[in-house]
Amino acid sequence: MLFRAKGQQDETEEARLSPMAEPTKHEERKGMAANNVLVVSAHAADYCTRSGGTILNLVQQGFSVHVLALTCGVRGESGGYWKNNPEGSYEACSELRKRESTEAAKTLGATIEFLDWDDYPLVIDVERTRYLIKRVLQIRPEIILTHWTVDPTNPDHANTGNAVVMACNSASQLGALPGTPAHYYPNIYFFEPTVPMSEFNKFDPDFYVDISANQEKKMQAIAKFGCQPQLGDFYVHFAKHRAFQARIWTKLNIEYAEGFKRFVPYVGKGLPITVRS
Ligand SMILES: [Zn+2]
Repeated sequence: MLFRAKGQQDETEEARLSPMAEPTKHEERKGMAANNVLVVSAHAADYCTRSGGTILNLVQQGFSVHVLALTCGVRGESGGYWKNNPEGSYEACSELRKRESTEAAKTLGATIEFLDWDDYPLVIDVERTRYLIKRVLQIRPEIILTHWTVDPTNPDHANTGNAVVMACNSASQLGALPGTPAHYYPNIYFFEPTVPMSEFNKFDPDFYVDISANQEKKMQAIAKFGCQPQLGDFYVHFAKHRAFQARIWTKLNIEYAEGFKRFVPYVGKGLPITVRS
């Protein structure tokens, strides 16, 4: 389901879980699975702050990027809303977060889908994991961006990363969704855990993406998240930090970067070459 702003009604949990569910418009307009990128985000803004520059790069390279926002982060990542609306409601906050996140995704050139699961804590049970398996099998992404699997400073993030790995593992098995071909293990890249706690969360990137050309656009997207006004400062600081590290390896004039850890090992007849110029 794409966001309701497109005039669609929310699906029931039953419909979401049905293996016979119709492909969404998102899948229909995808002719080439190898061009699909799936981003799985625990909360409303995570995908944008941690991988917004990379999403912009990928879209400009011809990839089609779809975001799955498991929750809107109403309980744990909407402090600005609750500060300004002490008498506010879960529903009103949720709708506001969806509007913000939809605007941000549009700025990045991605489509977005909200699952409306609850956050803090985000619990991903068997039924929800099966839904993720189904979406992987429908979208059949070449690349998945999601949360690092170790994040004691934010268990919602770690739960998401681990559920995505489990979903990809299951989706690669024939029979995961009867009547649907298995999907190969996509290239999973974990993005930054809770900033600025990367060391505490044992995250050391092995991939750096130069987002300098798209940093300004990424900041325009982050600015949509009025409920989290602190994000801009956090992620400018961190993008500079990752760029500082990336420059050590390339000597290129990288001003802003995003860091990732690769899950699926690289397989090829050659070896990946770090860009020098
Ligand atoms: Zn989050």
